Amino acid sequence: MIPLLHVGRRPATPSPWAAFRYREVDGEVLLTSYLGDWVFVSKDEFLAMVRGEVGEGSPLYERLASRGFVRNRIDPDQAAERLQRKKRFLDAGPNLHVMVVTLRCNESCVYCHAARADMTETSTDMTPEIGEKAVELALQTTSPSVTIEFQGGEPLVNFPVVKHIIQHALVKNRAYGKRLEFTMVSNLSLMDEEKLKFLLDHKVQICTSIDGPEAIHNKQRILAGGNAWQESVRWIRRINEAYQKLGLDPVLYHVEALLTTTRAILDYPKELVDTYVDLGCRAIFIRPLDPFGWAQKTARTTEYPRSRYLEFYRQATDYILELNRQGTQVLERFAAIFLTKILGDDDPNFLDVRSPGGAGIGQLAYSYDGKIYTSDEGRMLGKTGDDFFCIGDVRTSTYRELMTHETVRALTLASNLDAQPDCVNCTYNPYCGIVPEHNYRSQGSIWGRMRESNLCAVHKGIQDYLFTLLRRNDPQTIDILRRWTTIRERSHFIQESSAS
Ligand code: SF4
Repeated sequence: MIPLLHVGRRPATPSPWAAFRYREVDGEVLLTSYLGDWVFVSKDEFLAMVRGEVGEGSPLYERLASRGFVRNRIDPDQAAERLQRKKRFLDAGPNLHVMVVTLRCNESCVYCHAARADMTETSTDMTPEIGEKAVELALQTTSPSVTIEFQGGEPLVNFPVVKHIIQHALVKNRAYGKRLEFTMVSNLSLMDEEKLKFLLDHKVQICTSIDGPEAIHNKQRILAGGNAWQESVRWIRRINEAYQKLGLDPVLYHVEALLTTTRAILDYPKELVDTYVDLGCRAIFIRPLDPFGWAQKTARTTEYPRSRYLEFYRQATDYILELNRQGTQVLERFAAIFLTKILGDDDPNFLDVRSPGGAGIGQLAYSYDGKIYTSDEGRMLGKTGDDFFCIGDVRTSTYRELMTHETVRALTLASNLDAQPDCVNCTYNPYCGIVPEHNYRSQGSIWGRMRESNLCAVHKGIQDYLFTLLRRNDPQTIDILRRWTTIRERSHFIQESSAS
């Protein structure tokens, strides 16, 4: 980093530059503006800028002007429009509604974030009545889009309630006309043809977990008396085949898989990517471990320094880029989220990487027992005995009470990067986001201390990597990175009742 102490005398005339933040990346200085524009300058150019030695009309001055860094060349109306577009997600209330239909699960994962219950604990099943009330609250959102996501435990364990919620939501949505979608996160081992038919008939998106090649996956995800990897893979292939039979484009329609990065996979970045590509997945989300559920208890064997994670991230993403250069279309999800904001004016509305964050105002989580939380992470903390993020109950709360709850307001403030002591000055402020539940769990306060935060280290390290690629400016790599920011709508999954 270039300390401003080295800059020398202050310019005599007011600076022509728009406000910017700066950071040394790959030997040059990255400048980012408050609107998210960015440019690289050499260290000498940077010193000339801050010393007031860049003449108007000089090549450097014009380059900075063309990238939005000269104050009097910025059109305020256009800037306001761009900012509004970037923060468009604030126009609507929560669109993601996580329904935890049971805590029971037939697999036990070493890092289980959901803090699963044994298969005998039927008391952790959501009842149809609670499901109905959760649907009725979800549809009251001011968001025109509603995604109901079935989570657990393992949602297939309480499949009758999943079916009931879907049918109830479809009927109720005739009056609301929301753009309604259903997704399910499942380990797939309890899938059968009858359940699959219902899910396909009702256009439910299916997402599963793949933690690496078979041996590594099975070490992380233990299926008593079975093989977790083989069960998942069997059904991934079966569901992808069903999508193809429906005439759906396999690039767009396939089972999505999620990775939880444990220590066991860190030496196998290429094997991980090859596994995903072989299963027909077009996106790999290289997510680090979260400190929720059992993950803290098992940290001694599963955790790792974030520097080691970032090395793994770079190796895996370098390999993904190499595969793209050879013609295989596959992307890394974290990179796609950041690049969408770095290369354009759209925000993909990924709730953990936006400012302010999505707790309460972007998502709600409905626990099996009717309690409502600001997020699924908040619900996970509730399961471990801490109801800090509980904001109501489906039986008694109104939508207005939930949205104006003091916890929701506090989380919105705490996840506003312009109010966070470290983030406010961070070069990556325009593209980043923080998760107050993560701060609370790992640092004891929803505000957290970003310079000591594992999550900040991950976000900073990934953005350093991406900006290094952008600085090197290899045309083929840039084309691939741009392609990763293209959002193609999966309209098949939007329920027909949305239009009526
Ligand atoms: S979380 Fe870290 S990387 Fe992101 S804006 Fe804040 S300080 Fe920067």
